[in-house]
Amino acid sequence: KAKEKGRNQYLFCSTDMKGEVNRQNQLTNYLYRALEKGELFINYQPQVCLNTGKVTGVESLLRWQHPELGLISPAVIIPLAEKTSLINPIGEWVLETACRQNKAWQDMGMEPILMAVNISASQFKNPNLISQVEGILQRTGLKPKYLEVEITESTAILELNEIICKLKGLKEIGVSIAIDDFGTEYSSLGRLKMLPLDRLKMDKQFVDGAGHNHKDQAIAKAIIQLGKSLGLSVVAEGVEDENQVSFLKTSHCDLIQGYYYYKPLDAAAIEEILKQQG
Ligand code: C2E
Ligand code: MG
Ligand code: MG
Ligand code: MG
Repeated sequence: KAKEKGRNQYLFCSTDMKGEVNRQNQLTNYLYRALEKGELFINYQPQVCLNTGKVTGVESLLRWQHPELGLISPAVIIPLAEKTSLINPIGEWVLETACRQNKAWQDMGMEPILMAVNISASQFKNPNLISQVEGILQRTGLKPKYLEVEITESTAILELNEIICKLKGLKEIGVSIAIDDFGTEYSSLGRLKMLPLDRLKMDKQFVDGAGHNHKDQAIAKAIIQLGKSLGLSVVAEGVEDENQVSFLKTSHCDLIQGYYYYKPLDAAAIEEILKQQG
């Protein structure tokens, strides 16, 4: 009986894994067509300057609306795209769409803001990245100073010289660089010192407790001070309540990105916000 049960369990487990593999393959096939079918779109989350209360930038966040599966998160899309050759066309589409959108707001007469775009590690590895970005800026007419590239610490799996070289190339064309999710992964302060960065984004995990927990406050404060001492502007990610905002304000954090102010929104909603702040 027990043996039978064990065997059933094994069978169950194995079909389950097979199911998962099939599901991944199916999803990959769908993703191949998602771009041409226009199922991908971008939401933009405002970044609010703590001094002025103004929206000075937005981060572009990828979304996939599948007709049957519904809305799919970038936490699913990006790893899937990275496993295939899809990360390059998708990454390029995101960059171009975000730059074109930012230029469109400017053409409507809005005060210019910064557009932050996430770049994954394998996108960063692409030897054509810099000419790709240059081409996009040319095609869309966006000035490079209104584009910021966000890299994560997982980019650190690449060779340090290669990273520095790429980042310098991007800076040379006038694009700014942010380090995203700072403090979560392989954080080497030695690397932080060597990378030509403009901005540090403190991860939500340190922001979460910053409204009430002393240890989290100590860490958050240290990260903000570290960033500022290195001449970087500091963004707090995932800010959800007023206590966090007031702590971040007294700790001289520069910018806030979080549901407390705005969730990721569509382009029309951003247009309204920009219109209202004149
Ligand atoms: P990220 O770059 O760290 O982006 C911030 C994430 O935190 C977003 O999740 C955003 O919706 C969420 N967030 C912002 N404020 C709050 C808050 O107050 N509370 C909570 N609970 N969450 C908040 P999202 O849009 O699901 O994106 C997840 C991750 O997927 C991003 O993390 C980024 O690493 C990646 N990603 C998104 N779009 C792209 C893209 O176009 N290319 C690449 N390579 N990665 C992307
Ligand atoms: Mg980001
Ligand atoms: Mg982040
Ligand atoms: Mg994150």
